[in-house]
Amino acid sequence: MPGVLDQQLRQALAARLRYYRELGIYDFYRRDARAIAESDALDPVAAEASIQREQREEMTPRKATARAVPEESVLEVIPSRPEAGVSDPVKALKLIREDIGDCTRCRLATQGRKQIVFGVGNPAADLMFVGEAPGADEDLQGEPFVGRAGQLLTNMIKAMGIGREQVYIANIIKCRPPNNRTPERDECETCSPFLMRQIASIQPKVIVALGAVAAKSLLAINDSMSNLRGRWYEFKPTGVRSHDPSWTSAKLAVTYHPAFLLRDPRQKKEAWKDLQMVMKELGLKAPAKAVE
Ligand code: URA
Repeated sequence: MPGVLDQQLRQALAARLRYYRELGIYDFYRRDARAIAESDALDPVAAEASIQREQREEMTPRKATARAVPEESVLEVIPSRPEAGVSDPVKALKLIREDIGDCTRCRLATQGRKQIVFGVGNPAADLMFVGEAPGADEDLQGEPFVGRAGQLLTNMIKAMGIGREQVYIANIIKCRPPNNRTPERDECETCSPFLMRQIASIQPKVIVALGAVAAKSLLAINDSMSNLRGRWYEFKPTGVRSHDPSWTSAKLAVTYHPAFLLRDPRQKKEAWKDLQMVMKELGLKAPAKAVE
């Protein structure tokens, strides 16, 4: 009967939702049925592939789904994001931090991290910086960008005519990878839903992605830094809606990671151009003497 899900499908759906919930993903978007029908009519091969995909999913529910949740309550047992509907960003961020807990969702939990580095700064910031991952200093202090690269970032922020405490700073992943290696894709995918929720709670006007890992992860684009820089992107946090319907997206700019600028200071001029683009957007004026 249309609109009624059979029991196996309901249980598979509930298991899938629980799995996403565990990853910190709560909100789902439903494509308009008419739009799907129209796009399928234009592309019959894609339509066939999507039918086959759906059938495969329906035919192979996970074993765990057989452990029954009472049929009538299958969809009701999925809790919503704890911060859903919370308009105070301080409270929302606290709820997200509590939801992360002493996280063991990926291998980094057992590879030497000392603590989770959640994010720091103004919960109602207009400007947010997103880096890659905590390093040794951040892992020790529990705060992003407090080592040498962090000092340079603090100076870059001052050069924009504002203080570090006025912005919000976070990373794509919240745990230090062993030997500061680049985060693996699955680590980014597991951790970034929490960053998306932080972004949706803070509702920044502008996000600056620091370096290639942050840029590629936020934008889901694989391109060189020189191609990614120098323009604006519209950024909507994936998988989560803001509590405020009037905020749906931020403007995102890409610039070099401060650690890269420490290795190649000649690129500071280019990074300054990126920051000037951001300052213009936010109506910020550099102090009389720019900080080095
Ligand atoms: N590098 C990052 O990307 N993030 C930090 O927090 C520190 C260094």
